[in-house]
Amino acid sequence: MKKNLLLALSVLTLSMVGCKEKGEQIKINDEEMKYEVDEFADIQVLRYEVPGFEHLSLADKKQIYFLSMAALEGRDILFDQNNKYNLAIRRTLEAISENYKGDKGSDEFKALEVYLKRVWFSNGIHHHYGEEKFLPAFSQQFFADQVKSLPADLVPVKEGQTVDQFVEMITPVMFDPHVMAKKMDQSAKDVILASANNYYGEGVTQDEVVAFYNAMKDPNDLTPLSYGLNSRLVKENGVLTEKVWNVKGLYSPAIERVVYWLEEALRNLHNPGPYREEMLSLLIYYYKTGDLSLFDKYCIAWVEDEGKVDFVNGFTEVYGDALGIKASWESIVNFRNENATKRTKIISDNAQWFEDNSPMDSRFRKEKVKGVSAKVITVAQLGGDCYPATPIGINLPNADWIRKEHGSKSVTIENIMEAYDKASLHTGFNDEFVYSDVEKESLSKFGFITDVLHTDLHECLGHGSGKLLPGVDPNALGEQSSTIEETRADLFGLYYIADAKIVELGILPDSEAYKAEYYKFMMNGLMTQLVRIEPGKDIEEAHMRNRQLIARWVYEKGRADNVVELKVRDGETFVVINDYEKLRGLFGELLAEIQRIKSEGDYAAAKAIVDAYAVKVDQKLHAEVLARYKGLNMKPYRGFVNPVYSLVKDDKGEIVDVTISYDEGYAEQMLRYSKEFSTLPTYND
Ligand code: ZN
Repeated sequence: MKKNLLLALSVLTLSMVGCKEKGEQIKINDEEMKYEVDEFADIQVLRYEVPGFEHLSLADKKQIYFLSMAALEGRDILFDQNNKYNLAIRRTLEAISENYKGDKGSDEFKALEVYLKRVWFSNGIHHHYGEEKFLPAFSQQFFADQVKSLPADLVPVKEGQTVDQFVEMITPVMFDPHVMAKKMDQSAKDVILASANNYYGEGVTQDEVVAFYNAMKDPNDLTPLSYGLNSRLVKENGVLTEKVWNVKGLYSPAIERVVYWLEEALRNLHNPGPYREEMLSLLIYYYKTGDLSLFDKYCIAWVEDEGKVDFVNGFTEVYGDALGIKASWESIVNFRNENATKRTKIISDNAQWFEDNSPMDSRFRKEKVKGVSAKVITVAQLGGDCYPATPIGINLPNADWIRKEHGSKSVTIENIMEAYDKASLHTGFNDEFVYSDVEKESLSKFGFITDVLHTDLHECLGHGSGKLLPGVDPNALGEQSSTIEETRADLFGLYYIADAKIVELGILPDSEAYKAEYYKFMMNGLMTQLVRIEPGKDIEEAHMRNRQLIARWVYEKGRADNVVELKVRDGETFVVINDYEKLRGLFGELLAEIQRIKSEGDYAAAKAIVDAYAVKVDQKLHAEVLARYKGLNMKPYRGFVNPVYSLVKDDKGEIVDVTISYDEGYAEQMLRYSKEFSTLPTYND
């Protein structure tokens, strides 16, 4: 489960599961233009840094190198999973782009470049976030002419097909809005037939899929396999059968290369720790056989492993399949950020103090609370479904029984969050929405650290605090439960980020620092998160509801004392916080009430407070925020280029160092990947 899948520029965030998503990352200073690499359509491409890489041991650097190569080798798999024509289209466009003899300043060619950049970004012809097919802005005639003028060996025709037949086959797939309109369609009558992804073969229906996998499940099995996770389900001669993605099966050429690099990593292990060797061996064995019981064993070893360098590599998340059965291929290579992890450990070690001193009624407190020590990591390489759009947090494995029996890893990706933060400096967002230089300066100085700290408190303490009264049904709050739960965790973080204890523990440098988070939270909750809502719509998503609930509640309750104001200046509305201490008091008061609602399972109160504060949007303010945001011309989606790693060898051929560089551009990187990491045939039937 990706907890925090940040897909967007400052504002468009999708939280897939549980926890706090990150909204407006704001910070102001003048450096860091280098973080911006490219922009096109609705996309901005950024660069992330890998701080600390140079100081890793040679053994760790080598692991990162080998695992990074494994991360890149699976790229084509995802293209083919997303749609069966994606590789044909990508390869054709790349060939045209590289062999074009005409005027590169022409509208047609420029439109082709934009379309190709979008195909790279989305790993196919459908929008990476919205699922809908995006259409080329060049003409069908231009496309046909270009394909026909290519050297014949560069046109990825199907076996026995002429170039004309190829153009005829591919044109509607690219240009006709009704053909393969959505990569995944969850609202269709038959979500499998309606989805253009390649997880199921021609003609396989939703009912057939459900029946096929239900037949595998045993309700008494306490450790069920993730049935169907690593295969395409097809109909052959009328019979449903799985084509398994493994070394011997579907996607074999790419998986073989992935395995090759994993084996290099295995061969080069130094001080592997108790689980590393087992973990790598199990993953390799699983890739070779496709045996899902090996995947579970691998997941367990992965949870237990505590090596500094860590990675995800494989068929992992199921968001791309309307039925949530088939997993897309992805990879993230990373290493532990020791300093930041110390921070979460300090918080976790003091969990009991925070519990004992919280404003909740003592009846709802946990006598013995266990903080969660979430790991903070630095990403070194992104691949597959994590590239170029990437999550900012990971929580795996997904199998419930493994999570229950063996635990899970919860990970915050700090260098990606920092890149978002730094890139936001130049958007003009703060200049538009932040009230004065006082707040801007506070955000510039403390915005990033308080933002990650709020997330830490939310994750490490907030969710784990408090208890239900005896006899209270854990599901008592029904459909209100996730909004209430996120509200509770956010309030825990807001209340404590301003506590003297945080400065005393050395986590924040300054007793005024928390004001940055308070301001950002209130501005976001009262105003700026509304840029994600369409005019006239209510707030639906639990995290967004939680934030408006908190912001609106303290705004209303603090009105008599003028704690928080919505001030209008030259026709524009701004959030102004007049009394930070009283604001903290209100956060504490609300925390006590939300904890009561949860502990007592008070559904009526949960529904009443959500309905009153969290759902409805102030229409006038909403229209104003949307208009001001539009004026900023911000790109709603963001992604990243990877750094480039190179081996340094001595005259005997021994690796003596691994270097990192950050100078590769977006199109340059994509074209290189398409040459160096492209082993799959164009059509994978
Ligand atoms: Zn949460």
